[in-house]
Amino acid sequence: MKPSIESSTMETAILDGKALSGKIKVEIAAEVSEWVQKGHRKPHLAAVLVGNDGASRTYVDHKVRSCEQVGFDSTLIERPSDITQADLLAIVDGLNRDNGIDGFIVQLPLPSHIDDQAIIEAVDPLKDVDGFHPSNMGNLALGLPGFVPATPAGIMAMLDRYNIDTEGKHAVVIGRSSIVGTPMSLLLSRSGSPGNCTVTLCHSRTQGLADHCRQADILVAAVGIPGMVKADMVKEGAVVIDVGITRVEDATAKRGFRLKGDVDYTDVAPKCSWITPVPGGVGPMTIVSLLRNTLVAAQRTASHH
Ligand code: NAD
Repeated sequence: MKPSIESSTMETAILDGKALSGKIKVEIAAEVSEWVQKGHRKPHLAAVLVGNDGASRTYVDHKVRSCEQVGFDSTLIERPSDITQADLLAIVDGLNRDNGIDGFIVQLPLPSHIDDQAIIEAVDPLKDVDGFHPSNMGNLALGLPGFVPATPAGIMAMLDRYNIDTEGKHAVVIGRSSIVGTPMSLLLSRSGSPGNCTVTLCHSRTQGLADHCRQADILVAAVGIPGMVKADMVKEGAVVIDVGITRVEDATAKRGFRLKGDVDYTDVAPKCSWITPVPGGVGPMTIVSLLRNTLVAAQRTASHH
């Protein structure tokens, strides 16, 4: 039986993002094939990758490969790190105008000579499948339809599919970035299921972080400090969602590094009702949310033509 937050004899269960994302990909693939059978073209996602950052390349490769798995078309546009802002804006403009592209992302972070915000704001909100444009962020804050950033959307999908009860619970989110922590806090607090949480948003200036965390029925860590959440910061029976992914050097690992979450998993897991592993938790859910956004974008494009 699935443990509930109230259960006293606690058993930890894993929120398996890898397995769940595989299942959701199968569902998306079925929807795509139905869509194509109706005479529509395949949904098409483009990704723009600037420079040679290893982690960014890995993420973009995963996104492109996942598009193929569900039957989307994908286009990868690669440019060197010395591209000018004007040239990058021209690429964005071209993608905005291209009727063959349903949605696109510009992988962040961008080189320091480029103003990330100027690029984000240049993306057509209807093609902004990352959900970073102010208009999509505004819709999110107002509870209106729009594209929701993939990582928080993936976490909400995970809570939903695992039937985690969020109604009236106290959720503590650590991290206030515009791509994870802030949208996460909005989604958890908004009316709906999952949702209806009472939310505390903690950040680098928060005083008494551990005390806040100990109040959490649902704890979401999105900081980027490996292992910072320890067992003494977690309430017995909490649901713990670890968004952090940091590359930590490890000579014994094949690639020379391991991915570490913000949660000290071995310390914290015995105390939780549910916990996400790193890797294999939030990461794969992020990718399926991007696919879902792209399918929605394709359906919208079709209804406008
Ligand atoms: P960010 O650097 O933009 O934001 C980090 C946040 O943590 C900030 O809001 C800051 O206020 C807060 N913070 C910093 N130090 C703190 C402290 N000591 N105590 C409390 N709060 C503190 O990072 P981000 O883009 O939100 O990403 C956070 C982590 O999540 C990173 O490890 C990133 O790699 C990872 N991430 C994972 C996915 C995924 O798909 N799994 C997606 C996006 C980001």
